[in-house]
Amino acid sequence: MWSNAKDRALRDRAAQVIPGGMYGHQSTVLMPEGFPQFFTRSDGTRITDADGNTYIDFMCAYGPNLLGYQHPRVMAAIERQQALSDTSTGPSPLIVDLAEALVGMISHADWAMFCKNGSDATTMALMTARAYRGKRKVLVATGAYHGSLPWSTPRPGGVVAEDRAHLIYYTYNDPQALADAVKQAGDDLAGIFATPFRHDTFHDQTLPDAEYARAARRLADEHDALLVVDDVRAGFRMSRDCSWETIGVRPDLSAWGKVLGNGQPISALLGNDRAREAAANIFVTGSYWFSAVPMAAALETLRIVRETDYLEHMQIIGELFRSALTGQATGYGFTLRHTGPETLPMVLFEEDPDFRLGYAFCAAAMKRGVYLSPYHNMFINAAMTEADIAETLEATGAAFEEIKQNRDTLQPSQVLMALMEA
Ligand code: PMP
Repeated sequence: MWSNAKDRALRDRAAQVIPGGMYGHQSTVLMPEGFPQFFTRSDGTRITDADGNTYIDFMCAYGPNLLGYQHPRVMAAIERQQALSDTSTGPSPLIVDLAEALVGMISHADWAMFCKNGSDATTMALMTARAYRGKRKVLVATGAYHGSLPWSTPRPGGVVAEDRAHLIYYTYNDPQALADAVKQAGDDLAGIFATPFRHDTFHDQTLPDAEYARAARRLADEHDALLVVDDVRAGFRMSRDCSWETIGVRPDLSAWGKVLGNGQPISALLGNDRAREAAANIFVTGSYWFSAVPMAAALETLRIVRETDYLEHMQIIGELFRSALTGQATGYGFTLRHTGPETLPMVLFEEDPDFRLGYAFCAAAMKRGVYLSPYHNMFINAAMTEADIAETLEATGAAFEEIKQNRDTLQPSQVLMALMEA
């Protein structure tokens, strides 16, 4: 029987010693009531919370779990490297191997630099774009997430207008809005940022319009500015190359993170020769940026990406999840909008403007052993099997039945309503 007594006790303790009890994207403050905050194990497709409840995990650590938690080949690479060296006075030769591996795989890339988080990589992209010709204006799509530093964090606390003084916002997928933003930048355009597709929280996802992507490339060229694709979230879930290769548009820079070491802390900025000198001129570093263990994990992850059908398998599993879940919903009288690439599913209910259906559905599925998000895109991993989807559907079938029965009494999340009003 599902219980969260230990999780609640941990939350009480956390509230005393961690501001807000928990912070950042893994805080469950916005999740439906009762969602576990603390986890003790992760293995393959499953996570186990502090109370011992195990879930099929459709969040994959918000992306990093690409191949399955504790993937044996990646774990073996980690153990081998741990026995030799990790954080040291200089990088291991693995940094060269890893840069060569990425340059060999990612069509637009002639070089690589490594860091820890996606936010490091996107910020290095921003700095490289500015260092390139000494220009200042950077274009980003309204609502797009590029990280949690003062120029990019989505919440206003601790941020001043000057942190974003040289950002210009445009509407994703709208070539005219992009052209207008470029015009506004005048002769000061340093770079244009784009995510591979629109994957904003709380919204249906939209795939990139090729005309928009080509316009971004053309405008960057015309203004001698750099085009940046932020592949931190979608990387290796759409392609074994930069995600915009799927629509034939090559950026100058791409930011990577999350999946790169299948969960080990490593991220990267990749770039072409045009951007090489600028990248060499920015001073960026960190105590752990050159640690060898995450690089060993990344090399093994990349080998698996190159040598196996992990991507095609995830696409099949993602498509199965999409078609089975939307079909199941219809059977219970609900209509789902299941948008975006099959490997990064976003599932929202039709006629659910305050998300009360989605929240109640995810809470009911969670108590039956399936961890879904009612407002964030989810992630398929390569360890998932048809049996995992069948087990998922048993839980979601019961969850649809429960919310069908309770439909008239469901209320929206108070925390969510407060956030939306703010
Ligand atoms: N860019 C995108 C598109 C992301 O999805 C994220 C993380 N969700 C980031 C940047 C920031 O990555 P990190 O949280 O590792 O700093």
